[in-house]
Amino acid sequence: MNIEIRKGDITKVHTDAIVNAANSKLLGGGGVDGAIHRAAGKQLLAECRRLRETTLQDGLPAGQAVATDGYDLPARWVIHTVGPVYAKTKDKSDILASCYRESLRVADELGAKSVAFPAISAGIYGWPMDSATRIAVDTVLAADTQVGTVVFVPFSEDAEGAFQEALRTSRDA
Ligand code: ADP
Repeated sequence: MNIEIRKGDITKVHTDAIVNAANSKLLGGGGVDGAIHRAAGKQLLAECRRLRETTLQDGLPAGQAVATDGYDLPARWVIHTVGPVYAKTKDKSDILASCYRESLRVADELGAKSVAFPAISAGIYGWPMDSATRIAVDTVLAADTQVGTVVFVPFSEDAEGAFQEALRTSRDA
C-alpha cells in the first residue's frame, strides 16, 4: 500500500473516496463534516436524510462507516464514519481503529482504490493529535484491503508533523 501525507483541505482531494469524520446523527456538523457538506452540496444532506429514514434510523454508531455519493466533490464517494469522543478515563482506541478499518472495508465494497482520511476524532472530539495519528497510521498499515493508496490529510502543521512522525516510526518498526 502506498501512503501519502498531503496537508490541506480534504474536500479538494481527488481520491476515489474521502472519509468524513461525521457524528452519529449523520446530518452534518462542524469541522471537516461541515466543510464536506458545504463542498458536496445539498444532495449529500438529502442522501444522509434518506439513510436516517431507512437503514440508519438510530444513527451511525461510533466505529462504523457508511458510504454516500460525493456529488459536487472531486471524490466519487464520501465514506462517513463516527469517531469516539476522547475520554481520559476510558480507552476508546479500539473504536478509533475501527473507524479506519471499517472505512477501508466500505471502500473495498465500493471498489475504491484510493481513499483520503482526515485525523478522525482529533478536532471537536478532543483526541490528542499524536495518539490519533498513530492509531490512524498503524491501523491502515495493518489493514487487509484492496485499497492501494491512502492519503492522510492533516489540516494544520501540527497534524502534518504528527502524521509524519507516526509514519516514520511505524516504518522503522
Ligand atoms: P471530530 O469531531 O472527529 O474530532 P473534526 O472535524 O472536529 O472531527 O476534526 C477532525 C480533524 O479534521 C481535525 O484535526 C480538524 O482540524 C480537521 N479538519 C477540519 N476541517 C478539515 C478539512 N477541510 N480538511 C481536512 N481536515 C479538516
